[in-house]
Amino acid sequence: IKAACADLADILAGMRRGVAFTGAGISTECGIPDFRSPGGLWTRNRPIDFESFRSNRQMRDEAWRRRFEMEAAFGGAQPGRGHKALARLLGEGRLAGIVTQNIDGLHQASGVPEEHLVELHGNSTYATCLDCGTRYELGWVRQRFEASGGTAPDCPDCEGPIKTATISFGQPMPAQAMTRAGTLTAACDVFLAIGSSLVVWPAAGFPVQAKRGGARLIIINREPTELDDIADLVIHADIGDVFEAVGQA
Ligand code: NAD
Ligand code: ZN
Repeated sequence: IKAACADLADILAGMRRGVAFTGAGISTECGIPDFRSPGGLWTRNRPIDFESFRSNRQMRDEAWRRRFEMEAAFGGAQPGRGHKALARLLGEGRLAGIVTQNIDGLHQASGVPEEHLVELHGNSTYATCLDCGTRYELGWVRQRFEASGGTAPDCPDCEGPIKTATISFGQPMPAQAMTRAGTLTAACDVFLAIGSSLVVWPAAGFPVQAKRGGARLIIINREPTELDDIADLVIHADIGDVFEAVGQA
C-alpha cells in the first residue's frame, strides 16, 4: 500500500486535467452507508424504481418516509478526507472536474463549485414535480407530509407527483450531466475512480472511455471492482487513509 500511495503521489503531481469519479465509498467515513453495507438503509429497503414511484401513491408515501428517515440519520454529515483532498486538487488546477454518483451534496459542502461538479444521479436536497418541473424545497414537502399523517403531497399547480431531484432505477439519465461527464472524460489525462464498485451502468462506462482515450486509470476502493483488470494502478485500501498517506508522501 505504501508503494502504491507513492506511485499515486507521483501521478497526482504530474496530473494536468484529471477527472475524479466518485461513488458511495467516499462518503462512508462521513457516516453515510454505501449500497452494500450490512444493515445500511439501502440494504434494508429495496429501492423503489421510477415506474412504481410514478404510478403508485403508496410507493410515493414510502419513498418520502425513507427520505425523511435518512435526513434524521445523516442530515448533519460533513465532508471527509477524500472530499477535502479532491477539493484541494481542484483548487490547484490538477483536476478539471469531479463526476459523482452520490446524491449527498458533500462535494459541494467541501467547496467544489457547481461548474466543476457533475451529479450523474441527481441531488436529494430538493424536489421537483415530475409533470411540470416546478421546484419544491424539502421543508415544504415535509410540512405537508407530516400534517397529512404521512401522505406525499402532489403538485399544487398540476397535481403531478413530487419527487426528490435524484435519478431512480428505471429513470432516464440526465442528458446534460451525461454530456458534461463525457466531455470531461474525453479530455482527461488521469481518471481517478474512487469508492465505486463500478457496476452501475452507464456510470461505469466513463472509466472505460477514459482508458480508451489514452488516460491513465487509477482505482481506489477497498474491495476489488469490475474494472481492476484494465487499470494502471489499483489501491485496495480506505480512501481517507490513502489521501492522508499521499498528502504526506
Ligand atoms: P457501491 O455501494 O456500489 O460501492 C461502493 C464501494 O465503495 C464498495 O465497493 C465499497 O467496498 C467501497 N468503499 C466503501 N467505503 C470505503 C472506504 N472508506 N474506502 C474505500 N472503499 C470504500 O456504490 P456506488 O458504486 O457508488 O453505487 C451505489 C449507488 O447508490 C450510487 O449510484 C448512488 O447514487 C447511490 N448511493 C449514494 C450514496 C451517497 O450519496 N452517499 C450512498 C449510497 C448509495
Ligand atoms: Zn406540477
